[in-house]
Amino acid sequence: MKTFGHFIAGKWVKSDSRKTFESTNPADPKEVLGKFQLGTEKDVQKAITAAENAFIKWREVPAPKRGELILKAAQLLKREKERLAKLMVKEMGKVLKEARGDVQEAIDIAEYMAGEGRRLFGHTTPSELRDKFAMTIRIPLGVCGLITPWNFPIAIPAWKIFPALICGNTVILKPSSDTPLMALEFMKILDKAGFPKGTVNCVTGSGSVAGKELIENKRVKAISFTGSKETGEFIAGNAGIKKIGLELGGKNPIIVMDDADLNLALEGVIWGAFGTTGQRCTAASRVIIHEKVKKQFEEMLVSKAKKLRLGSGLKESTDVGPLINEAAVKKSEYYCGIGVKEKAKLLIGGKRARMNGCFFEPTIFTDVKPGMRIAQEEIFGPVVSLISVKNINEAIKVANNIEYGLSSSIYTNNVRNAFLAMQKINAGITYVNSSTIGSEVHLPFGGTKGTGNGTREAGIEGINEFSETKTLYIDYSGKLQKAQIDEVKVD
Ligand code: NAP
Repeated sequence: MKTFGHFIAGKWVKSDSRKTFESTNPADPKEVLGKFQLGTEKDVQKAITAAENAFIKWREVPAPKRGELILKAAQLLKREKERLAKLMVKEMGKVLKEARGDVQEAIDIAEYMAGEGRRLFGHTTPSELRDKFAMTIRIPLGVCGLITPWNFPIAIPAWKIFPALICGNTVILKPSSDTPLMALEFMKILDKAGFPKGTVNCVTGSGSVAGKELIENKRVKAISFTGSKETGEFIAGNAGIKKIGLELGGKNPIIVMDDADLNLALEGVIWGAFGTTGQRCTAASRVIIHEKVKKQFEEMLVSKAKKLRLGSGLKESTDVGPLINEAAVKKSEYYCGIGVKEKAKLLIGGKRARMNGCFFEPTIFTDVKPGMRIAQEEIFGPVVSLISVKNINEAIKVANNIEYGLSSSIYTNNVRNAFLAMQKINAGITYVNSSTIGSEVHLPFGGTKGTGNGTREAGIEGINEFSETKTLYIDYSGKLQKAQIDEVKVD
């Protein structure tokens, strides 16, 4: 079995701990995909030194040139797309079509950020004094620590690495311990693309050791994190004075109004609730259904969900792959037990599938009350709750009655309902007549309330996350001018 190293200063190196951990296939947990370094604080410190050294030169490379290397990485990702997608299915479990989409998202963000190398706009503005010029430029932050989850094992690291690099930062990735293989495959591609040694580094190992060191080390100037609310709260409390970006959980609603195209809504709910086996931060875990169409929609949904085929994501016929690991199966089981105890009505599923691997049956609860735990807490599995409402105002109230605010959606053919939802749902994203899933890389991505701390990823907001603004004043009057004090005469 292959043993992989950390990627530090352009070299594949062993951990100081001399210990490794394994990554397995959730569709067949006996299949071990490799051994990975169990990173220590010392390993992370070595990576920080490498990234600090590389930063001195990398920040001076003209941004369009940095963009060329990112574009090269995009080309290599394109060439390797199929191989990476198949490996991703093995390590993470999502079905092949979605794994291809994951790699495609990395290609898209690389192409977008490569182009950003020729923009990185600041702004110019008049000075209040004569013969004085004022403008802003963007400057890099320094060494950025990137901590990522397993559900988008290439796309999420790419959403952080490429904007960080184009802004002139150097990075250390600490990937999820469930998907270290994909992170290191990504490193190989970046290495091939020709980024200078130490510009991009990757330390594998546990969040509570390697991740914690990144968070607490003062030489790391920014943390960009995607993962659970609990870890996000830990970061907010322990990162000290550094820039932090937090992309956390969701409990995303789809509102289905009585005027909606129910067939269209059905497709959206199936995709939102059971795509990626419900393991997307944007997964639709609540369906807020107008009481007039509730019965009909329940029947349609159950009939369609029954036809979903579970299995290995490598089979073209599979609709729903496994959950990421045994703990995730237990978590879905636990919440289904809670749902039954809370007296929600179980329409279908509710238990692990009778097959080898981490499979869980697509699960639908109805007659769910907005305050029940299954309607409030992130399950991160193929479990969806139907909540019935009388009108649009109640629907929006229920949609907002939640600690998270990532994605949301409404199915309606009534323009008033659509605009009320767009304006009044408290979330980072609202879709109209489309599911809660499907972000595009040139638009901002992120959420309100418990989903984050106000940062957004992707598009121009991704550039904001990884740069700061420097203000420049150029006085060519040849004398000392004092803002707010000198009187400027109009003559
Ligand atoms: P997680 O348990 O918070 O782990 C995420 C990352 O943080 C992993 O690399 C993990 O390392 C590391 N980590 C854990 N504890 C840490 C600590 N004390 N200090 C530093 N790092 C630590 O989340 P997950 O289970 O991987 O991902 C699922 C969650 O991510 C869900 O809540 C989902 O909604 C959210 N998510 C959000 C978005 C978004 O954009 N808003 C996108 C995708 C997923 P180990 O793997 O070694 O524990």
